[in-house]
Amino acid sequence: MAKKKQDITLLREKINQLDSGLIKLLAQRRKLSKEVIVVKETFHKPIRDQQREAELLNRLIKAGKKEGLDSHFLSKVFYEIIEDSVRLQQNFVQTKLNTKSEKKKAIKIAIQGIEGSYSYLASQKYFTHFNSELTFVFKKLFDEVIDSVEKGEADYAVLPIENTTSGGINEVYDLLLHTTLSIVGEEKFQVKHCLVALEEVPIRKIKKVLAHHQAAAQCSKFLESIPNVGVEYFVDTAMSVQKIKEVGNSSFAAIASEEAATLFNLKILQRDIANQPENFTRFLVASRKPEEVDSRIPCKTSIVMATSHTAGSLVEALNVFRKYNVNLTKLESRPIIGNPWEEMFYLDFEGNIIDETIKNVMDELGQYTRFIKILGSYPSQELSKTKLEYTKILESGIQKSALPISYDSQNIINKKSKSKNYRLASREYKSEDTVIKVRDVIIGGNNFVVIAGPCSVESKEMILQCALEAKENGVQILRGGCFKPRTSPYSFQGLGLEGVEFLSEAGKYYEMPIITEVMDTEQVADVAKVSDILQIGARNMQNFALLKEVGKTHRPIMLKRGLSASIDDWLNAAEYILSQGNRQVILCERGIRTFETATRNTLDLSAIPVLKELTHLPVIVDPSHAVGERNKVIPLAKAAKVVGAHGIMIEFHPDPPNALSDPEQALYFQQFEELMRDLYKL
Ligand code: PEP
Ligand code: MN
Repeated sequence: MAKKKQDITLLREKINQLDSGLIKLLAQRRKLSKEVIVVKETFHKPIRDQQREAELLNRLIKAGKKEGLDSHFLSKVFYEIIEDSVRLQQNFVQTKLNTKSEKKKAIKIAIQGIEGSYSYLASQKYFTHFNSELTFVFKKLFDEVIDSVEKGEADYAVLPIENTTSGGINEVYDLLLHTTLSIVGEEKFQVKHCLVALEEVPIRKIKKVLAHHQAAAQCSKFLESIPNVGVEYFVDTAMSVQKIKEVGNSSFAAIASEEAATLFNLKILQRDIANQPENFTRFLVASRKPEEVDSRIPCKTSIVMATSHTAGSLVEALNVFRKYNVNLTKLESRPIIGNPWEEMFYLDFEGNIIDETIKNVMDELGQYTRFIKILGSYPSQELSKTKLEYTKILESGIQKSALPISYDSQNIINKKSKSKNYRLASREYKSEDTVIKVRDVIIGGNNFVVIAGPCSVESKEMILQCALEAKENGVQILRGGCFKPRTSPYSFQGLGLEGVEFLSEAGKYYEMPIITEVMDTEQVADVAKVSDILQIGARNMQNFALLKEVGKTHRPIMLKRGLSASIDDWLNAAEYILSQGNRQVILCERGIRTFETATRNTLDLSAIPVLKELTHLPVIVDPSHAVGERNKVIPLAKAAKVVGAHGIMIEFHPDPPNALSDPEQALYFQQFEELMRDLYKL
């Protein structure tokens, strides 16, 4: 026992040493990155070279593989390092550009709230690279913050403008309309609510929680779980923390950020207590004078406008952006006070107000508006991620082999109109392909996606293992059944909602969207909360109540072909979903019953070109359930790609013979890896 303890101490000592080494290396890397930007400046070179970044990542991944490190882990670490370096270099050129004459030693920032508030923390984050001393002017109200900068009491105002859970902050939008300040920057801050208290006490001992009303609402489920707790509302998160200190009662707690807890020297009783774990607030930074943005930095512009009093003027105004190919990142409307039922539109778009294109846009916008105000151009917080080479190979490979979408709509109408009951699913209704975006994954058009994973989620460990295998081989979407439609009632029925949680965790960890099946109308709402795509299984293709229910969700639906459904039956089933308002339907050919008994089902590959003619919806092929035998899955998966499917869905398992469902058709990891390698080449 004593020996073990000693061993651990020794090992920990070694780890500590390695960690200090890592820190030193990171600092050295940063220093080099600073030297690089000086050279780039001298030769007017671009800040980013994504080709070099991609090459670097691929080289590192290869080297990492040799050391037994998986590519997901390595790329995650190096994305952070590259991002840090890019931000460092961008900040360097920005600061140089804007502090030519007056070198500011101290910066005064006006915020709503006090030390430790989210505005305070976001300001700290934004201004770190200025290397200046920061002082704060704390105000109770947003308009006092703006006033303070307008009058010259402070240099910058930092204001929250939107939150990913609760939406736009109307008061700040309305103030932007009238202020003389310019927006010079933005900052995104992840809000992570914690329960904090004076000392470590069991949570059930907490009798009172002090919280900002919005924070309390965002953590309502957690608060309900504490027996007999009272909630007292505060205007500010940091103030509730301050109050805890003042009162000095250990049965009092507050909802606040980890940073606020540290700042006030309080204990964190529990982290991540919000109902919605991913919660970001975007802040705007404004000053009296606009700032220049270096042309090598991605820039964003914000404006506010009122369109003219004619029908379609908003559409005409937006068309100007389309004409000049300018990407809009936000459109928000606010009522004009004093003019009932009239609206002001707030727009954010990519580009700098001094660019020729943007000048043209602004000029033409004038034709359709009666008021425009430029709020400012500023460096965008959004940094594009460098794509890993294997996805590039995958994408380019696909474009070669994808079949051109050729169809003769006249011909179809003549030939098929007699039997066609569906309309929304048809090419006549929509001639362009439906392209569905799930997080970063594009389904449809010229893309080829691979969905893969086990038939059933069997445990947390198992799905994590499968997710790693998927990620390492370039899979874009992770599958896993949790509510299983088994032919026999005695077979494993799936882990239900608990399984969905495991799948969701695995998807989050490895940054892949997930898909899982729903079998009952009652499951739809809960599963739609976490699953990026909902699957309707073959046995439920004509469960019309279920189709209607999923038609009301905002999630894309993958509709599998019924065991003995004709293409016409299938498209009519899709129509049920589409007609409820959900226009994101993906079809999945998974084999049908024929007289042939040699394989589990018969994969109807001819359905793919037929569907491409009849419908605009994307089509995926599932060779696993079609053929039912692992050795035959591989050739059929390749055939699906060649025949023009928009993707495939494959089942694999860490230990196929012992899979709890569909053991015969699950690929061994090694088989799957070979398949993925071969697919890239097609
Ligand atoms: C599945 O994909 O897990 C499944 C059960 O498929 P199907 O509905 O096609 O049988
Ligand atoms: Mn299966």
